[in-house]
Amino acid sequence: MGKVSAAFSLKHVLVLSLALNVGLILRFLHEGGAKNLEKENRDTAAGAGAVMASKEAHAGMTSSSSAGAAEAVAGGGDDGSVINLDHGDPTMYERFWQQMGDKTTVVIPGWQYISYFSNVRNLCWFLEPEFANAVVNLHKVVGNAIADDHHIVVGTGSTQLFQAVLYALSPADSSEPMSVVSAAPYYSSYPLQTDYLKSGLYKWAGDAYKFSKDTPYIELVTSPNNPDGSTRQAVVNQSEGIRLHDLAYYWPQYTPISFPADHDIMLFTVSKSTGHAGTRIGWALIRDREIAKKMTKFIEINTIGVSKDSQLRAAKVLQAVSDSYDRDGIPKESKAFFEYGYNLMAERWRNLRAAVNMSGLFSLPDFPVEVCTFSRRAFEPQPAFAWLKCEGEIEDCESFIRKHKILTRGGKHFGVSPKYVRISMLDRDEKFNLFTERLSKIHN
Ligand code: PMP
Repeated sequence: MGKVSAAFSLKHVLVLSLALNVGLILRFLHEGGAKNLEKENRDTAAGAGAVMASKEAHAGMTSSSSAGAAEAVAGGGDDGSVINLDHGDPTMYERFWQQMGDKTTVVIPGWQYISYFSNVRNLCWFLEPEFANAVVNLHKVVGNAIADDHHIVVGTGSTQLFQAVLYALSPADSSEPMSVVSAAPYYSSYPLQTDYLKSGLYKWAGDAYKFSKDTPYIELVTSPNNPDGSTRQAVVNQSEGIRLHDLAYYWPQYTPISFPADHDIMLFTVSKSTGHAGTRIGWALIRDREIAKKMTKFIEINTIGVSKDSQLRAAKVLQAVSDSYDRDGIPKESKAFFEYGYNLMAERWRNLRAAVNMSGLFSLPDFPVEVCTFSRRAFEPQPAFAWLKCEGEIEDCESFIRKHKILTRGGKHFGVSPKYVRISMLDRDEKFNLFTERLSKIHN
């Protein structure tokens, strides 16, 4: 009996201790979560406040971040906080859309768009016609891709379309998975997205420069490239390859548009074109009907289509961009989207290059000047990411910069040396200005 009661109380102690521990863990998580939330709210509130202040400072549609830069140069701006530029979150476009007021506001009554279907007669049956029209119109205005003789497949971001393309291109009955390659440095999500489900259909095979197998493959050609901003063409030259052209950054705020792309498989996204990453809408332009059909099947099985609400919002935004230009690509009004993006990116790249010169520890790629057929300007690419190299003895650039509380993504994620880091150029003014100010003062 004594034994039983001892065992009984021991059991209770254990249960009690477990309950206490679970309680502690939950409290810890909750407080941690609350703290993070608090921090996020603080950041957002600070961001919104700064946007408003800056908005007042820049009455009219200027893209200048000079108020923030001036403050930073005066040395009053750096509060020593962590500057996270790891992700390419395109919040720099917030101010433009804020100043557009209600032009891109979408109101959807509760009864509308409740069906799964958009147009059952269309190959991509969940594609909203309004979105398809807006895509075709915008490509016509910008001249960056031929859309009208391609099938349009809409996706939940171009991320879903990427997976749909891999599915569509890989033969179901092959004994070996199809190799997927991209020239290093490649977009860090490609290997993860290719392999995370351990598909038997396709498999990440690394750097395209090192691919020597004589078997079918898919080459991902990203131009301008993420992370280094270079203009790219396919590098594997074998007959059995299929190319997927990821053109997420082929827009005139980042690079001179030199020709309308007319590849068999092209991916675009609102995330980087207009900055609406949260809308999660991308589109594929596909020449071959069977491939477009298989991609549609993938999305049908994966998510039974793509949010109509999001497609309508994306349509409204894309159409507003198109409408601000005339047929020759001349801005009709002062509030033209690509002018805003171009000016802001140009200013940021000037500030970044100045900061890199002041520091003396880093280098950036140089790009050739080219004429843009859309804006008729001659300019050098001003990519959405800075591909920064730590010069001299510094081997691990990500860790080195992290000591200065700047978070970036190191070269190894992109298949190259850790001497490189990728830095987002698309964040809000105040964060970007703080970054260049801090970078300019790193001397050892
Ligand atoms: N491709 C490239 C090259 C990208 O940089 C990104 C976004 N970082 C994507 C695709 C994914 O875009 P989305 O937000 O449309 O999924």
